[in-house]
Amino acid sequence: MSTLRVLYVTPECTPWVKTGGLGDVSAALPPELARLGCEVALLIPAYRAMQALTAGASPVAEVPAHGELPACRVLQTRLKNGVRLLLLDAPALYDREAGPYLDATGRDWPDNALRFGALSHAAAHLCRAGLADGWLPQVLHCHDWPAALAPVYLRYGPPAEVASIVTIHNLAFQGIFPAQTLHALGLPESSFTLDGVEYWGQVSFLKGGLACADAITAVSPNYAREIQDKELGFGLDGLLHARRAVLYGILNGIDIQTWNPADDPLIAAPYDSDRLEAKALNKLALQKRLGLPQDEAVPLLGSVGRITLQKGFDLIAEVAETLVHGGTPVQFALLGSGSLELENRLLALQAAHPRAIGLKIGFDEKLAHLIEAGADMFLMPSRFEPCGLNQMYSQRYGTPPVANATGGLVDTIEDYDGTPESAAQATGCLCREASPEAFLAAVRRALDCYADKKLWRQL
Ligand code: ADP
Repeated sequence: MSTLRVLYVTPECTPWVKTGGLGDVSAALPPELARLGCEVALLIPAYRAMQALTAGASPVAEVPAHGELPACRVLQTRLKNGVRLLLLDAPALYDREAGPYLDATGRDWPDNALRFGALSHAAAHLCRAGLADGWLPQVLHCHDWPAALAPVYLRYGPPAEVASIVTIHNLAFQGIFPAQTLHALGLPESSFTLDGVEYWGQVSFLKGGLACADAITAVSPNYAREIQDKELGFGLDGLLHARRAVLYGILNGIDIQTWNPADDPLIAAPYDSDRLEAKALNKLALQKRLGLPQDEAVPLLGSVGRITLQKGFDLIAEVAETLVHGGTPVQFALLGSGSLELENRLLALQAAHPRAIGLKIGFDEKLAHLIEAGADMFLMPSRFEPCGLNQMYSQRYGTPPVANATGGLVDTIEDYDGTPESAAQATGCLCREASPEAFLAAVRRALDCYADKKLWRQL
């Protein structure tokens, strides 16, 4: 296979900047593409969290100012896995405390259009001008709305010999800004149309990218179908359906080295499918960590994620309430942050039932690994789920997922329907809709299976 040069453009990459699955995929996919024979350069803003890398990096390109976007430098360093890491150096935009999208109070950075306009514009510039050593991309791979304007800059500026792809990790986030942003971004009036960035009188990064890219991918085959319908299309179903000939669903993978229970420095005791007994040590450690009574026998139900309606944390709260009030012996190990209202609901539940509900509000990579290892089952009643990584991590950790049958969860989980025959094939439990009743029924099915040690071992 001839070498393909890929410019991979992303707003997040583990371990430096991660708010969700995109961070993990951006760490795992480029080295995998390299293994398949591609030359990959990963372009990402030089956030404050990347300062240590910036210090050792050397300049390889200058991106001129454009509209109100400042001139930026591109600094290059190499990751241990050989991938070129390109840091977009613009301290006025990126050298800040707090997250990539939100300030310390949880509000969008007011200049997000410029911050990610600059990322997209730099990507387009590199497709035309290349790097100092002559490296020129053949494929431009843009991830989510923060990178999605790059194909727009290519269409409405000097062209480049490059094929562009926009990957949708979550259609709910589109990067929509007031119409006057067009000038700040240095885009011409001619781009403010149905074929360009215009979306109900505003500028939409993602819509522009989906309209202008040569190809579109979504992170699971099922999600690629779902987003062509009104229910999960978030207003872009018409466009996506019209572009279905170039819309592909490609399932995310996971990094099986980072997520490996046999060799995971973040868990209490290593184990694998032949040494499952040691999983119990992780359960005891997790119970201790969250202040729950240490008990090997009681089913421990875990979940990690953004505490939002999308992830169905309200359904988890509801099911936890029902089970605990009904006297079912069960414990919960929950980790996440998000909506204040849902966080408060979970905190109140924990205060009322401290011996049954273990909860940490916040972002905690170590605890996330311990929950995957220590819980007996993993809850994911998402209302929609483009792919989902946690259900794959949980399967790798022998912690069957109990999930709603949506998006990538359908592509990655084989349902245990309650019959012994299905336990041989199954990898978790699915519910058919995101309702408290349906989710409770799936959880009960899993608990019944758990009570039958032989059946559970099979699952
Ligand atoms: P999404 O990208 O929609 O948030 P995914 O399941 O694809 O959901 O990926 C979520 C990733 O983020 C997983 O690696 C998960 O463990 C991690 N994660 C989410 N919230 C937290 C948290 N509070 N602490 C640690 N890791 C978290």
